[in-house]
Amino acid sequence: MVFIDLDGTLQLNPFERAVWPQVVGEMAQKSGLSGADILQMIEDENNARQRDDNIPAILAMDMDDISLTVAKRLGVSITTSVTELVNTYAKSHSTLLEYALESLQELAAPHRAIVIATKGLAKYQLQVMDALGITPLVTDTLTPDTHNGLKKHRHFFGDWPEQAKLSIMVGDLYDDDVLYPSGHGFKTLWKPRATLIPDSLYHLDPFTRAEEFPYGPEQTVHPTGIMHSLRELPAAVTYLEQHSL
Ligand SMILES: [Mg+2]
Repeated sequence: MVFIDLDGTLQLNPFERAVWPQVVGEMAQKSGLSGADILQMIEDENNARQRDDNIPAILAMDMDDISLTVAKRLGVSITTSVTELVNTYAKSHSTLLEYALESLQELAAPHRAIVIATKGLAKYQLQVMDALGITPLVTDTLTPDTHNGLKKHRHFFGDWPEQAKLSIMVGDLYDDDVLYPSGHGFKTLWKPRATLIPDSLYHLDPFTRAEEFPYGPEQTVHPTGIMHSLRELPAAVTYLEQHSL
């Protein structure tokens, strides 16, 4: 089976281009702080919540609650709601990444479950997936709401891995999509930002590329494969299925 991340892997969501500019804009106007500083506070709060194991995963990723918390810290009140803005801009301000739908279509096979594994809450993600046409192409969708977990938690993935002969995680973030899933025993196909892959590795296959990649000193766990494009995904999955069982 294949777990696939959403944001930065299959799609770009409306947060950067529509939701944050309005929410942060209102807070900036009312507090006098710069938008960049406020966005940083939101990010810091989100990261701190994810690191704190006493905070439920659902609350750690609740951008409505995080925005209200930061606004309160700044002594302002906000009228813009993250959830409402995501609903408004789900279609107009989200984008499919190159070859997203095509790779899902190519992966479709009776023996293979294709499960979205995203750290975004269902209330932010499902309508974007619907708007972009991703939903009908996948078997299931896991969000932090599903089992109140993050990707670092094995329970995030429910009992899918036990049912599968082989679990493969596909995504763009090193920690969430390579480090933690490797710890759960999954194979991993990493699609880092294109600028991170040296030109000299471009012509290699994903598995050789993963061997040659210049990892950072903290990146001690290496992915099974590294892709520069989703065009490489179907063949890489098929290869792993044929060689890992
Ligand atoms: Mg991602």
